[in-house]
Amino acid sequence: MIKNTSPLAQLPSVDRLLTADITVDIISTFGRTATKNAIRAVLNNVRQELVDSNVAPPTDETLLKKISGLLIQEAAPSLKAVFNLTGTVLHTNLGRAALPEEAIAALEEVARKPSNLEYKIATGSRGDRDEHVENQICRLTGAEAATVVNNNAAAIMLILNTFALGKEVPTSRGELVEIGGSFRIPEIMSQSGCKLVEVGTTNRTHLSDFKNAISPKTGLIMKVHTSNYVVEGFTAETSEEALSELCKSARIPFVVDLGSGSLINLDDFGLPKEPTPMDSIKNGADLVTFSGDKMLGGPQAGIIVGKQNYISEIKKNPMKRALRCGKLTVAALSAVIRLYDNPERLAERLPTLRHLLRPLSEIRSMARNLAPQIATALNNFGTVSEIECESQIGSGALPTKNIQSIGLAITPQIKGGAPLAELADAFRNLPIPVIGRIHDDSYLIDLRCLEDENVFLEQLNKLNIEG
Ligand SMILES: *Cc1c(COP(=O)(O)O)cnc(C)c1O
Repeated sequence: MIKNTSPLAQLPSVDRLLTADITVDIISTFGRTATKNAIRAVLNNVRQELVDSNVAPPTDETLLKKISGLLIQEAAPSLKAVFNLTGTVLHTNLGRAALPEEAIAALEEVARKPSNLEYKIATGSRGDRDEHVENQICRLTGAEAATVVNNNAAAIMLILNTFALGKEVPTSRGELVEIGGSFRIPEIMSQSGCKLVEVGTTNRTHLSDFKNAISPKTGLIMKVHTSNYVVEGFTAETSEEALSELCKSARIPFVVDLGSGSLINLDDFGLPKEPTPMDSIKNGADLVTFSGDKMLGGPQAGIIVGKQNYISEIKKNPMKRALRCGKLTVAALSAVIRLYDNPERLAERLPTLRHLLRPLSEIRSMARNLAPQIATALNNFGTVSEIECESQIGSGALPTKNIQSIGLAITPQIKGGAPLAELADAFRNLPIPVIGRIHDDSYLIDLRCLEDENVFLEQLNKLNIEG
Protein backbone atom coordinates (compact mmCIF):
# COMPACT_ATOMS: atom_id res chain seq x y z
CA MET A 1 0.00 0.00 0.00
CA ILE A 2 1.29 3.49 -0.88
CA LYS A 3 1.35 5.93 2.03
CA ASN A 4 -0.43 9.19 1.22
CA THR A 5 2.26 11.84 1.74
CA SER A 6 0.25 14.90 0.64
CA PRO A 7 0.38 17.62 3.34
CA LEU A 8 -3.41 17.53 3.65
CA ALA A 9 -3.44 13.89 4.56
CA GLN A 10 -0.89 14.53 7.30
CA LEU A 11 -3.18 16.91 9.20
CA PRO A 12 -4.48 15.37 12.42
CA SER A 13 -8.15 14.58 12.89
CA VAL A 14 -10.39 16.64 15.18
CA ASP A 15 -10.50 13.70 17.59
CA ARG A 16 -6.74 13.31 17.74
CA LEU A 17 -6.33 16.95 18.75
CA LEU A 18 -9.28 16.81 21.13
CA THR A 19 -7.80 13.86 23.03
CA ALA A 20 -4.17 15.02 22.95
CA ASP A 21 -2.51 15.41 26.37
CA ILE A 22 -1.91 19.11 25.99
CA THR A 23 -5.57 19.73 25.12
CA VAL A 24 -6.71 18.83 28.64
CA ASP A 25 -5.86 22.30 29.98
CA ILE A 26 -7.52 24.05 27.06
CA ILE A 27 -10.71 22.05 27.60
CA SER A 28 -10.75 22.79 31.31
CA THR A 29 -10.51 26.54 30.58
CA PHE A 30 -12.84 26.91 27.61
CA GLY A 31 -15.02 23.79 27.74
CA ARG A 32 -15.27 20.86 25.36
CA THR A 33 -17.76 22.37 22.92
CA ALA A 34 -15.85 25.58 22.31
CA THR A 35 -12.54 23.69 22.04
CA LYS A 36 -13.98 21.29 19.47
CA ASN A 37 -15.38 24.18 17.42
CA ALA A 38 -12.03 25.98 17.56
CA ILE A 39 -10.16 22.82 16.45
CA ARG A 40 -12.52 22.53 13.46
CA ALA A 41 -12.07 26.21 12.57
CA VAL A 42 -8.28 26.08 12.80
CA LEU A 43 -8.07 22.82 10.81
CA ASN A 44 -10.27 24.34 8.10
CA ASN A 45 -8.02 27.39 7.88
CA VAL A 46 -4.83 25.36 7.78
CA ARG A 47 -6.30 23.03 5.16
CA GLN A 48 -7.08 26.05 2.99
CA GLU A 49 -3.53 27.38 3.47
CA LEU A 50 -2.09 24.03 2.41
CA VAL A 51 -4.24 24.00 -0.72
CA ASP A 52 -3.30 27.59 -1.60
CA SER A 53 0.44 27.34 -1.03
CA ASN A 54 3.14 24.79 -0.88
CA VAL A 55 4.05 24.82 2.81
CA ALA A 56 4.81 22.02 5.22
CA PRO A 57 1.90 20.92 7.47
CA PRO A 58 2.13 22.35 11.00
CA THR A 59 2.93 20.17 14.01
CA ASP A 60 0.21 19.31 16.52
CA GLU A 61 1.84 21.71 18.94
CA THR A 62 1.63 24.62 16.49
CA LEU A 63 -1.98 23.74 15.77
CA LEU A 64 -2.87 23.73 19.45
CA LYS A 65 -1.23 27.12 19.89
CA LYS A 66 -3.43 28.48 17.13
CA ILE A 67 -6.45 26.81 18.72
CA SER A 68 -5.88 28.30 22.17
CA GLY A 69 -5.11 31.66 20.54
CA LEU A 70 -8.47 31.57 18.76
CA LEU A 71 -10.27 30.57 21.96
CA ILE A 72 -8.66 33.41 23.94
CA GLN A 73 -9.64 35.87 21.21
CA GLU A 74 -13.23 34.63 21.12
CA ALA A 75 -13.61 34.68 24.91
CA ALA A 76 -12.50 38.32 25.18
CA PRO A 77 -15.40 40.78 25.30
CA SER A 78 -15.75 43.04 22.29
CA LEU A 79 -16.94 46.03 24.35
CA LYS A 80 -14.18 47.13 26.70
CA ALA A 81 -12.66 50.10 28.47
CA VAL A 82 -10.33 52.44 26.58
CA PHE A 83 -8.30 55.50 27.50
CA ASN A 84 -10.08 58.49 25.99
CA LEU A 85 -7.17 60.85 25.36
CA THR A 86 -8.84 62.48 22.35
CA GLY A 87 -9.46 65.72 24.25
CA THR A 88 -13.21 65.35 23.65
CA VAL A 89 -14.65 64.77 27.10
CA LEU A 90 -18.08 63.52 25.95
CA HIS A 91 -17.04 61.41 22.97
CA THR A 92 -20.08 59.74 21.42
CA ASN A 93 -18.08 56.91 19.84
CA LEU A 94 -16.31 56.28 23.15
CA GLY A 95 -19.52 56.00 25.17
CA ARG A 96 -19.99 59.64 26.27
CA ALA A 97 -20.25 60.24 30.04
CA ALA A 98 -18.31 58.09 32.50
CA LEU A 99 -20.63 57.32 35.41
CA PRO A 100 -20.00 58.39 39.01
CA GLU A 101 -19.35 55.68 41.62
CA GLU A 102 -22.79 56.34 43.15
CA ALA A 103 -24.46 55.37 39.85
CA ILE A 104 -22.31 52.26 39.45
CA ALA A 105 -23.22 51.09 42.95
CA ALA A 106 -26.92 51.71 42.23
CA LEU A 107 -26.99 49.79 38.98
CA GLU A 108 -24.97 46.94 40.45
CA GLU A 109 -27.53 46.51 43.23
CA VAL A 110 -30.48 46.53 40.83
CA ALA A 111 -28.70 44.26 38.35
CA ARG A 112 -28.13 41.60 40.97
CA LYS A 113 -31.49 41.58 42.71
CA PRO A 114 -35.21 42.06 42.08
CA SER A 115 -36.32 45.64 42.66
CA ASN A 116 -39.45 47.78 42.94
CA LEU A 117 -38.98 49.03 39.36
CA GLU A 118 -42.73 49.21 38.71
CA TYR A 119 -44.10 48.36 42.12
CA LYS A 120 -45.40 50.59 44.91
CA ILE A 121 -44.04 49.15 48.12
CA ALA A 122 -46.39 51.15 50.37
CA THR A 123 -49.56 49.75 48.79
CA GLY A 124 -48.37 46.60 47.03
CA SER A 125 -49.79 47.87 43.75
CA ARG A 126 -48.38 48.50 40.30
CA GLY A 127 -46.03 51.48 39.96
CA ASP A 128 -44.40 53.46 37.17
CA ARG A 129 -40.65 53.31 36.50
CA ASP A 130 -40.52 57.08 35.98
CA GLU A 131 -41.42 57.59 39.66
CA HIS A 132 -37.84 56.82 40.68
CA VAL A 133 -36.58 59.95 38.95
CA GLU A 134 -39.57 62.17 38.28
CA ASN A 135 -39.69 64.09 41.58
CA GLN A 136 -35.99 64.90 41.54
CA ILE A 137 -36.05 65.99 37.92
CA CYS A 138 -39.06 68.23 38.56
CA ARG A 139 -37.48 69.74 41.65
CA LEU A 140 -34.26 70.51 39.76
CA THR A 141 -35.85 71.85 36.57
CA GLY A 142 -38.96 73.52 37.92
CA ALA A 143 -41.12 71.40 35.60
CA GLU A 144 -44.54 69.98 36.58
CA ALA A 145 -43.82 66.49 35.31
CA ALA A 146 -41.15 64.36 33.66
CA THR A 147 -40.68 61.10 31.83
CA VAL A 148 -37.61 59.23 30.62
CA VAL A 149 -36.92 57.20 27.47
CA ASN A 150 -33.98 55.50 25.79
CA ASN A 151 -32.22 58.63 24.46
CA ASN A 152 -32.96 62.16 23.34
CA ALA A 153 -33.67 61.06 19.77
CA ALA A 154 -36.37 58.73 21.15
CA ALA A 155 -37.73 61.57 23.29
CA ILE A 156 -38.19 63.74 20.21
CA MET A 157 -39.76 60.95 18.16
CA LEU A 158 -42.16 60.17 20.99
CA ILE A 159 -43.25 63.80 21.30
CA LEU A 160 -43.71 64.15 17.54
CA ASN A 161 -45.63 60.90 17.37
CA THR A 162 -47.88 61.86 20.30
CA PHE A 163 -48.81 65.40 19.22
CA ALA A 164 -48.07 65.72 15.52
CA LEU A 165 -48.77 62.39 13.81
CA GLY A 166 -50.02 63.27 10.33
CA LYS A 167 -49.70 66.96 11.16
CA GLU A 168 -47.36 69.83 10.40
CA VAL A 169 -44.41 70.97 12.52
CA PRO A 170 -43.07 74.47 11.78
CA THR A 171 -39.33 74.65 12.52
CA SER A 172 -36.80 77.37 11.76
CA ARG A 173 -34.53 76.83 8.73
CA GLY A 174 -31.66 77.80 11.03
CA GLU A 175 -32.31 74.81 13.28
CA LEU A 176 -32.56 71.84 10.91
CA VAL A 177 -29.56 70.22 12.55
CA GLU A 178 -27.73 67.01 11.90
CA ILE A 179 -26.12 65.44 14.96
CA GLY A 180 -23.30 62.98 14.23
CA GLY A 181 -24.41 59.47 13.35
CA SER A 182 -27.59 59.96 11.34
CA PHE A 183 -29.78 62.03 13.64
CA ARG A 184 -31.24 64.71 11.35
CA ILE A 185 -34.24 66.80 12.29
CA PRO A 186 -35.95 66.57 8.84
CA GLU A 187 -35.60 62.78 8.80
CA ILE A 188 -36.72 62.34 12.40
CA MET A 189 -39.84 64.36 11.49
CA SER A 190 -40.74 62.26 8.48
CA GLN A 191 -39.98 58.99 10.27
CA SER A 192 -42.23 60.11 13.12
CA GLY A 193 -45.08 60.66 10.67
CA CYS A 194 -44.96 64.47 10.66
CA LYS A 195 -44.62 67.06 7.95
CA LEU A 196 -41.78 69.48 8.56
CA VAL A 197 -42.73 73.03 7.62
CA GLU A 198 -39.56 75.05 7.20
CA VAL A 199 -39.93 78.66 8.28
CA GLY A 200 -37.65 81.69 8.06
CA THR A 201 -34.17 81.54 6.60
CA THR A 202 -30.86 80.00 7.65
CA ASN A 203 -29.74 83.11 9.51
CA ARG A 204 -32.99 84.86 10.46
CA THR A 205 -36.36 83.58 11.60
CA HIS A 206 -39.03 85.90 13.00
CA LEU A 207 -42.16 85.34 15.06
CA SER A 208 -44.23 86.35 12.02
CA ASP A 209 -42.70 83.43 10.05
CA PHE A 210 -44.10 81.03 12.64
CA LYS A 211 -47.44 82.89 12.80
CA ASN A 212 -47.88 82.57 9.06
CA ALA A 213 -47.09 78.86 9.16
CA ILE A 214 -49.70 78.00 11.77
CA SER A 215 -52.89 76.36 10.50
CA PRO A 216 -55.43 73.83 11.78
CA LYS A 217 -52.97 71.18 10.53
CA THR A 218 -50.19 72.28 12.90
CA GLY A 219 -49.37 69.69 15.57
CA LEU A 220 -46.72 71.55 17.55
CA ILE A 221 -43.89 74.02 17.17
CA MET A 222 -40.38 72.79 17.76
CA LYS A 223 -37.28 74.78 18.63
CA VAL A 224 -33.99 72.91 18.32
CA HIS A 225 -30.84 74.02 20.09
CA THR A 226 -28.20 74.28 17.36
CA SER A 227 -25.82 72.36 19.53
CA ASN A 228 -22.95 71.61 17.19
CA TYR A 229 -22.66 74.79 15.13
CA VAL A 230 -23.10 78.52 15.44
CA VAL A 231 -24.78 80.93 13.05
CA GLU A 232 -22.97 84.23 13.41
CA GLY A 233 -23.36 87.70 11.93
CA PHE A 234 -26.72 89.07 10.73
CA THR A 235 -28.92 86.70 12.68
CA ALA A 236 -32.27 86.64 14.43
CA GLU A 237 -34.04 83.87 16.24
CA THR A 238 -37.44 83.88 17.83
CA SER A 239 -37.40 83.87 21.62
CA GLU A 240 -38.82 81.00 23.62
CA GLU A 241 -41.19 83.42 25.37
CA ALA A 242 -42.69 84.64 22.09
CA LEU A 243 -43.06 81.10 20.70
CA SER A 244 -44.63 79.98 23.95
CA GLU A 245 -47.27 82.73 23.71
CA LEU A 246 -47.95 81.91 20.07
CA CYS A 247 -48.41 78.20 20.84
CA LYS A 248 -50.66 78.97 23.80
CA SER A 249 -53.05 80.95 21.59
CA ALA A 250 -52.96 78.22 18.93
CA ARG A 251 -53.50 75.53 21.64
CA ILE A 252 -50.54 73.45 20.53
CA PRO A 253 -47.47 72.37 22.53
CA PHE A 254 -44.27 74.38 22.26
CA VAL A 255 -41.37 71.91 22.32
CA VAL A 256 -37.69 72.68 22.90
CA ASP A 257 -34.96 70.14 22.06
CA LEU A 258 -31.97 71.25 24.11
CA GLY A 259 -29.68 68.42 23.01
CA SER A 260 -27.16 68.43 25.82
CA GLY A 261 -28.73 70.84 28.28
CA SER A 262 -27.31 71.20 31.75
CA LEU A 263 -28.87 71.05 35.21
CA ILE A 264 -26.39 73.59 36.55
CA ASN A 265 -25.28 77.00 35.38
CA LEU A 266 -21.97 76.12 33.78
CA ASP A 267 -20.76 79.72 33.97
CA ASP A 268 -20.92 79.42 37.79
CA PHE A 269 -18.12 76.89 37.32
CA GLY A 270 -16.19 79.04 34.86
CA LEU A 271 -17.27 76.93 31.88
CA PRO A 272 -18.96 78.23 28.70
CA LYS A 273 -22.71 78.55 29.17
CA GLU A 274 -25.01 75.78 27.95
CA PRO A 275 -28.79 76.37 27.90
CA THR A 276 -30.68 74.83 30.81
CA PRO A 277 -34.09 73.15 30.94
CA MET A 278 -34.82 75.45 33.92
CA ASP A 279 -34.60 78.52 31.63
CA SER A 280 -36.74 76.95 28.89
CA ILE A 281 -39.41 75.98 31.43
CA LYS A 282 -39.33 79.50 32.88
CA ASN A 283 -39.65 80.90 29.35
CA GLY A 284 -42.87 78.94 28.92
CA ALA A 285 -41.80 75.83 26.99
CA ASP A 286 -44.45 73.10 27.31
CA LEU A 287 -42.00 70.26 26.77
CA VAL A 288 -38.21 70.24 26.93
CA THR A 289 -35.98 67.32 25.97
CA PHE A 290 -32.32 66.64 26.76
CA SER A 291 -29.86 63.76 26.92
CA GLY A 292 -28.90 61.79 30.01
CA ASP A 293 -25.33 61.14 28.88
CA LYS A 294 -24.21 64.55 27.67
CA MET A 295 -23.58 67.41 30.15
CA LEU A 296 -25.84 65.75 32.70
CA GLY A 297 -23.09 63.15 33.07
CA GLY A 298 -25.35 60.12 33.45
CA PRO A 299 -26.37 57.01 31.48
CA GLN A 300 -27.78 57.12 27.94
CA ALA A 301 -31.34 58.39 28.31
CA GLY A 302 -33.71 60.98 26.91
CA ILE A 303 -35.41 63.15 29.50
CA ILE A 304 -38.67 64.95 28.77
CA VAL A 305 -39.84 67.61 31.23
CA GLY A 306 -42.85 69.88 31.01
CA LYS A 307 -46.56 70.38 31.61
CA GLN A 308 -48.41 67.65 33.47
CA ASN A 309 -51.18 67.22 30.87
CA TYR A 310 -48.71 66.85 27.98
CA ILE A 311 -46.47 64.41 29.90
CA SER A 312 -49.57 62.33 30.77
CA GLU A 313 -50.50 62.12 27.10
CA ILE A 314 -46.96 61.03 26.21
CA LYS A 315 -47.08 58.30 28.85
CA LYS A 316 -50.32 56.97 27.35
CA ASN A 317 -48.77 56.58 23.89
CA PRO A 318 -47.96 52.87 23.29
CA MET A 319 -44.69 54.07 21.73
CA LYS A 320 -43.58 55.03 25.25
CA ARG A 321 -43.54 51.34 26.11
CA ALA A 322 -41.30 50.64 23.12
CA LEU A 323 -38.92 53.50 23.89
CA ARG A 324 -38.73 53.22 27.68
CA CYS A 325 -35.39 52.64 29.35
CA GLY A 326 -34.36 49.58 31.33
CA LYS A 327 -33.92 49.26 35.08
CA LEU A 328 -30.14 49.69 34.91
CA THR A 329 -30.62 53.08 33.29
CA VAL A 330 -33.29 54.09 35.80
CA ALA A 331 -30.99 53.11 38.67
CA ALA A 332 -27.98 54.97 37.30
CA LEU A 333 -29.96 58.05 36.27
CA SER A 334 -31.66 58.26 39.64
CA ALA A 335 -28.27 58.14 41.41
CA VAL A 336 -26.76 60.78 39.11
CA ILE A 337 -29.71 63.16 39.48
CA ARG A 338 -29.48 62.88 43.28
CA LEU A 339 -25.90 64.19 43.13
CA TYR A 340 -27.27 67.49 41.81
CA ASP A 341 -28.98 68.04 45.18
CA ASN A 342 -25.51 68.74 46.55
CA PRO A 343 -23.99 71.05 43.92
CA GLU A 344 -21.01 71.89 46.15
CA ARG A 345 -19.70 68.35 45.78
CA LEU A 346 -20.81 67.79 42.18
CA ALA A 347 -17.46 68.67 40.60
CA GLU A 348 -15.72 66.09 42.74
CA ARG A 349 -18.27 63.30 42.23
CA LEU A 350 -19.43 63.63 38.63
CA PRO A 351 -16.64 62.52 36.25
CA THR A 352 -17.87 64.69 33.35
CA LEU A 353 -17.70 67.86 35.42
CA ARG A 354 -14.53 66.73 37.20
CA HIS A 355 -12.78 66.25 33.86
CA LEU A 356 -13.96 69.59 32.52
CA LEU A 357 -12.84 71.43 35.64
CA ARG A 358 -9.55 69.62 36.15
CA PRO A 359 -6.88 72.22 37.04
CA LEU A 360 -4.23 72.77 34.39
CA SER A 361 -1.52 72.35 37.05
CA GLU A 362 -2.73 68.81 37.74
CA ILE A 363 -2.78 67.90 34.04
CA ARG A 364 0.66 69.45 33.57
CA SER A 365 2.25 67.52 36.42
CA MET A 366 0.85 64.31 34.95
CA ALA A 367 2.36 65.23 31.58
CA ARG A 368 5.76 65.81 33.21
CA ASN A 369 5.63 62.47 34.96
CA LEU A 370 4.54 60.56 31.85
CA ALA A 371 6.73 62.18 29.19
CA PRO A 372 10.09 60.54 30.06
CA GLN A 373 8.47 57.15 30.62
CA ILE A 374 6.70 57.25 27.26
CA ALA A 375 9.97 58.33 25.64
CA THR A 376 11.67 55.26 27.10
CA ALA A 377 8.89 52.98 25.86
CA LEU A 378 9.20 54.50 22.38
CA ASN A 379 12.77 53.27 22.19
CA ASN A 380 14.02 55.99 19.80
CA PHE A 381 10.98 55.72 17.56
CA GLY A 382 10.06 59.30 18.36
CA THR A 383 10.29 62.19 20.76
CA VAL A 384 7.80 63.29 23.39
CA SER A 385 7.06 66.89 24.23
CA GLU A 386 4.59 68.61 26.50
CA ILE A 387 2.27 70.93 24.61
CA GLU A 388 -0.67 73.22 25.26
CA CYS A 389 -3.78 71.97 23.50
CA GLU A 390 -7.52 72.46 23.59
CA SER A 391 -10.08 70.01 24.92
CA GLN A 392 -13.72 70.24 24.00
CA ILE A 393 -16.87 69.15 25.78
CA GLY A 394 -18.13 67.14 22.80
CA SER A 395 -21.51 65.61 21.93
CA GLY A 396 -22.51 68.86 20.34
CA ALA A 397 -22.20 70.95 23.49
CA LEU A 398 -20.48 74.33 23.15
CA PRO A 399 -18.73 73.59 19.87
CA THR A 400 -16.84 76.85 19.55
CA LYS A 401 -15.71 77.22 23.15
CA ASN A 402 -12.68 75.06 23.82
CA ILE A 403 -10.98 74.46 27.13
CA GLN A 404 -7.25 74.96 27.62
CA SER A 405 -5.50 71.67 28.30
CA ILE A 406 -2.09 69.98 28.35
CA GLY A 407 -1.09 67.06 26.19
CA LEU A 408 1.90 65.12 25.00
CA ALA A 409 2.90 65.31 21.35
CA ILE A 410 4.74 62.24 20.15
CA THR A 411 6.68 62.95 16.98
CA PRO A 412 8.22 60.07 15.03
CA GLN A 413 11.89 60.50 14.08
CA ILE A 414 10.99 59.64 10.53
CA LYS A 415 8.53 62.09 9.01
CA GLY A 416 5.44 60.97 7.15
CA GLY A 417 2.03 59.42 7.47
CA ALA A 418 3.18 55.83 7.83
CA PRO A 419 5.16 56.20 11.09
CA LEU A 420 2.34 58.35 12.53
CA ALA A 421 -0.23 55.71 11.64
CA GLU A 422 2.03 53.03 13.13
CA LEU A 423 2.20 54.99 16.36
CA ALA A 424 -1.57 55.44 16.56
CA ASP A 425 -2.01 51.71 15.78
CA ALA A 426 0.44 50.70 18.50
CA PHE A 427 -1.38 52.77 21.13
CA ARG A 428 -4.77 51.47 19.97
CA ASN A 429 -3.55 47.88 20.17
CA LEU A 430 -2.48 48.04 23.81
CA PRO A 431 -4.47 45.77 26.18
CA ILE A 432 -6.43 48.86 27.25
CA PRO A 433 -6.53 50.75 23.95
CA VAL A 434 -5.30 54.33 24.03
CA ILE A 435 -7.23 56.65 21.72
CA GLY A 436 -5.43 59.88 20.85
CA ARG A 437 -5.50 61.99 17.72
CA ILE A 438 -3.12 62.94 14.94
CA HIS A 439 -2.40 66.65 14.89
CA ASP A 440 0.05 68.12 12.37
CA ASP A 441 3.13 65.86 12.40
CA SER A 442 2.48 64.38 15.82
CA TYR A 443 0.36 61.85 17.63
CA LEU A 444 -1.30 63.85 20.37
CA ILE A 445 -2.67 62.59 23.68
CA ASP A 446 -4.67 65.12 25.69
CA LEU A 447 -4.31 64.15 29.36
CA ARG A 448 -7.44 65.91 30.66
CA CYS A 449 -9.45 62.67 30.98
CA LEU A 450 -6.64 60.38 32.16
CA GLU A 451 -7.47 59.07 35.62
CA ASP A 452 -5.55 55.79 35.97
CA GLU A 453 -2.06 57.11 35.38
CA ASN A 454 -0.37 53.98 36.72
CA VAL A 455 -2.51 51.60 34.69
CA PHE A 456 -1.60 53.68 31.65
CA LEU A 457 2.11 53.42 32.47
CA GLU A 458 2.10 49.72 33.31
CA GLN A 459 1.08 48.65 29.83
CA LEU A 460 3.55 50.88 27.96
CA ASN A 461 6.10 48.05 27.78
CA LYS A 462 3.64 46.27 25.46
CA LEU A 463 3.80 49.11 22.91
CA ASN A 464 4.55 47.31 19.66
CA ILE A 465 6.59 49.58 17.40
CA GLU A 466 9.77 49.14 15.37
CA GLY A 467 12.16 50.85 17.75
C1 LIG B 1 -27.34 65.07 20.87
C2 LIG B 1 -28.57 65.71 20.38
C3 LIG B 1 -29.70 64.93 20.06
C4 LIG B 1 -29.68 63.43 20.17
O1 LIG B 1 -29.55 63.02 21.50
P1 LIG B 1 -29.21 61.49 21.84
O2 LIG B 1 -29.31 61.43 23.32
O3 LIG B 1 -27.86 61.22 21.30
O4 LIG B 1 -30.24 60.65 21.18
C5 LIG B 1 -30.82 65.58 19.61
N1 LIG B 1 -30.86 66.92 19.46
C6 LIG B 1 -29.79 67.70 19.76
C7 LIG B 1 -29.90 69.18 19.57
C8 LIG B 1 -28.61 67.11 20.23
O5 LIG B 1 -27.55 67.87 20.51
